[in-house]
Parts: sequence; C-alpha cells; structure tokens
Amino acid sequence: MSANQHVVQFSGGVGSFLTAVQVAERHGTAGMTLLIADTRVEDEDLWRFSEDASAFLGVPLTIVRDGRTPWQVFYDQRFLGNDRLAPCTKVLKQQPCRAWMETNAPPDRATAYVGIEPNMHDRNRIPAIVRNWQPWTVEFPLADGPDATKGELLAQVRHLGIRPPRLYELGFAHNNCGGACVRAGQRQWKHLLATLPDRYAHAEHEEEKLRALLGDVSILRDRRRGTTRPLPLRSLRARGAVAVSTQRDSRSELSARSDIGCSGLPCRRSAPSLKPGSAIASRVSTASPTSSPKRPKSRPTKGR
Ligand code: SF4
Repeated sequence: MSANQHVVQFSGGVGSFLTAVQVAERHGTAGMTLLIADTRVEDEDLWRFSEDASAFLGVPLTIVRDGRTPWQVFYDQRFLGNDRLAPCTKVLKQQPCRAWMETNAPPDRATAYVGIEPNMHDRNRIPAIVRNWQPWTVEFPLADGPDATKGELLAQVRHLGIRPPRLYELGFAHNNCGGACVRAGQRQWKHLLATLPDRYAHAEHEEEKLRALLGDVSILRDRRRGTTRPLPLRSLRARGAVAVSTQRDSRSELSARSDIGCSGLPCRRSAPSLKPGSAIASRVSTASPTSSPKRPKSRPTKGR
C-alpha cells in the first residue's frame, strides 16, 4: 500500500518549509502534517514564521513537546550538552516526533520528509537520518534538487510572500533554540553575545549552575596551543571576544557560512520551482512578497 500520509518534520527553518512546499506540490495538502517539536527555548519569531508557513500551506501546525528545556534535560541527565554530544535533540525533538508518528502515522501509511538543504555538507547527513527513522520511509525533496545557497533559499521563501525567521537576518545559519544551540561553535556563541546578549547571559548563567553541580564541564572547548580544555561561556566573554571589531568579523563570517549577503539579505533573487497552475503556484501569484500571509483563525493543533 502506498503512503497517503505525508509528515513533514518541520523545524521552523527555511529548509523544512521549502520541503513542505515541494511535498504540497507533489501530493497536495490533504494528507500533509507539519510536525514541529517545541523545545521551549525557540526564538519567538520562529513561531511567527511557523504560523505564516502554516497559513500559506493551509495546514495546521501539529506541535509536540516533552515539556522541558535543553537546560532541564541537562540537569536531569547530569550531562551538559556540547558539540560532540547533545542529548537535548534526542529528548526534545526526536523522541516526541517519533512518538507522535507511532500513534498517528504508522510506517505502512506514512512517509516522513526532512528538510535537508541542497548542498554537499547537508546531504552527507542523509544516511544517518534514514537509519534513525527506520522503519519509516524518509524523503528529502529539497536535497534532491540543484544546489542552492542559504541566501538563495531565503530568496525563495521571500518569493512565496513570507518573511524568513529573524535569526537568519541577524546572521545565524540556523533558526533553532533561539541561536543558543549547544552544538554551535565559538563563532556562533560570540555572535550570540554580540546580537542577543540577554540570551547569551541566560545560557552563561545556566552553564555556571551546571558547572557547580557537575564540575569543570562546558559547552565549548578551547583547543589553543595543542591542548584541549573546557571553555565556559563566562571565559569566552572575559576574553573580550566581542570587541567591536570582532563583532563585525563574527557577523560577516557567519553570513559567509550561511551564504547570506552582507546586509543579511540574499545575494540574488531566486524562485522555487512550482508547477504552473498548481494550488501552491496560485497562492504565490496572489501573495505579497513584503507582507506575511493571513494568519490561521484557529490556534495550531496541539500534539501530545
Ligand atoms: S538545536 Fe541544539 S540546543 Fe536545541 S535541542 Fe537541538 S542540539 Fe539541543
């Protein structure tokens, strides 16, 4: 039996949104679910973007949540997440989404879709994702297409009449956990301090509490002079890592990494490939590129 449920693992980022657009183009939206996990630390604009995406597609958000934040998971597991190992992603995202799938979208009826972006680095993640999602079939329609930079993907979102999440505009490569992802490197943490200092201070405070509990642990590591040692956020701040010149460098480096232009805007316009006359294409022709689509009247569907 072929799958008639199409469950997009929607992260609130541009990759998973454009994936949902492609799924809608291929299969319509009647059997589509936009499944998103709430980590309780997302940037508030992620939810604005998600609701705009939901309204554009005419598909309500299905929100699942563990109920904890990444910090609470680290306390409970007596382990501080870092760039090598981050239990928060499994506990707060993978497990709630999988539990919803098991109950509502069994593998013989459903296909999962993941928003892997069309570049070599992201495509390398596909085999592990396929393994992790067994026994479901997983598809990656965006990655199947031609290579595109982050700036080009952002331009596609704007072309559809939707304002991208503000973290991209601020120079972050991803729109997850409010820019304070424990898997990010020093560069992103410096950038967070420069752009969203309150959020950095909160992470710094939480890390200090965990260090009091667990000892000399840290999210980041210092690898200078041939040795590796913990680098707490407090020490990164104390290094004067956000001198004005460094802020400028950090912004431009992040922008380069995410292929966003120097103003945070895409370098050139590009449009997603849509079937002429399709329901999605007709929505684009009536959408204004400078305003957000009308919000859905009802609140998103709540998951478990
Ligand atoms: S985005 Fe980062 S901090 Fe958030 S759950 Fe995933 S690994 Fe953890």
